[in-house]
Amino acid sequence: MKATDKKIPYKIYLDENELPRAWYDLRADMKNKPAPLLNPATHKPVTPEELEHVFCRDLAMQELCDTQRYVPIPEEILNFYKMYRPSPLVRAYCLEEKLGTPAEIYYKFEGNNTSGSHKLNSAIAQAYYAKKQGLKGVTTETGAGQWGTALSMACAYFGLDCQVYMVKVSYEQKPHRREVMRTYGATVTPSPSETTEVGRKILKEFPGTTGSLGCAISEAVEAAETTEGYRYVLGSVLCQVSLHQSIIGLETKTALEKYGVKPDVIIGCAGGGSNLSGLIAPFMGEKLRGEADYKFIAVEPASCPSLSRGKFAYDFCDTGKVCPLARMYTLGSGFIPAPNHAGGLRYHGMSPILSQLYHDGYLEAVTAVQTDVFGAAEYFARVEGILPAPESSHAIKAAIDQALECKKTGEKKVIVFGLTGTGYFDMTAYRKYNDGAMSDYIPTDEEIGKSTSSMPCVEED
Ligand SMILES: *Cc1c(COP(=O)(O)O)cnc(C)c1O
Repeated sequence: MKATDKKIPYKIYLDENELPRAWYDLRADMKNKPAPLLNPATHKPVTPEELEHVFCRDLAMQELCDTQRYVPIPEEILNFYKMYRPSPLVRAYCLEEKLGTPAEIYYKFEGNNTSGSHKLNSAIAQAYYAKKQGLKGVTTETGAGQWGTALSMACAYFGLDCQVYMVKVSYEQKPHRREVMRTYGATVTPSPSETTEVGRKILKEFPGTTGSLGCAISEAVEAAETTEGYRYVLGSVLCQVSLHQSIIGLETKTALEKYGVKPDVIIGCAGGGSNLSGLIAPFMGEKLRGEADYKFIAVEPASCPSLSRGKFAYDFCDTGKVCPLARMYTLGSGFIPAPNHAGGLRYHGMSPILSQLYHDGYLEAVTAVQTDVFGAAEYFARVEGILPAPESSHAIKAAIDQALECKKTGEKKVIVFGLTGTGYFDMTAYRKYNDGAMSDYIPTDEEIGKSTSSMPCVEED
């Protein structure tokens, strides 16, 4: 009997002892590695010492090391993972039937923890290394609030202080998110604020601004650099975050192998690229080593299309221009998605790992407009029961499109997508959609050209 003859359950759960014991660093298998981070002042590659002013020591090392294939997961982190992992891989039988597709659809569900997303996977690792170094606390930014929530949970667990700069528009629109973070002991400040120099500068230049992720990052970095015993932590984009998120892909691979299932298409939404890089990591590793072939699809909002329409160049990671420069697909650090955009994934740049893979043709990117994304979200909620986060729904939309394509061609493809989180705190956006008041906006080439023209000029050889 082939493993595939086993009846696949609705939910494939792994045992606790099947939890991966090491993260996988995809960079170790990349021939063209992501370009080094540069010091924003000198345009020279950042040194470990420079990076340790911003990040804690072990995380700075993880950021800079691109050759170690497996990084053991410390016991303390594993113990926390065990409270909510391994996460289920769900066979979407109901969705398949409703669509009438011959395709098999699976989704890896990362919403089964209080933070409601995959971000906890990296938050707990970052909090652990900060604690290990004897730090007092960490600062960070949060947009929609998932990262801040995840980090506040992780800091509460390890007894660290947590200061969150929350994009002002979200702070005002999502009071419940804010309260969850405070319940876990975090201090939440709307950004831009008067508490930092860069915040005061931005407020002076753009009075009444509702803030942006990049601006909140600048404030969090400044707060960390000017407070003794604090470091800055970031929930996406960085290579260390991709490393921690590889747990998603490693579990997915183990679960599929248990039933002899080989995916054809692997799909994820892409904001800063952390969940997607984590989900695809071990599969992409096989592709890079020539052992297997898969199709990988990144799904972006049409209103913030970093991979699809951005430039591949060195850019600032933040509006305040204090973070190291990263070579990535970017819309320019000054890019702010249209005010009607409600679907998340609003970061201007993209993981340097995914950027390089996309540039080298290993990864495809598609865009979706938000009314289609929310349409897919509702369809999914009604069929599969889970209320998805708007971010995750980008992947749902693309997975449904792939499944419908199979319906046309009769192909029996195996589609795997990342269901990164739940959408309970996004009901304002759902309400807009339900009221028929949601509209789409696709930036013009001029708008994108304007924000990419303010990128730093880095000589590359
Ligand atoms: C933050 C977030 C994302 C996007 O971030 P990536 O770094 O691109 O993974 C996607 N889904 C959910 C639920 C999120 O909270």
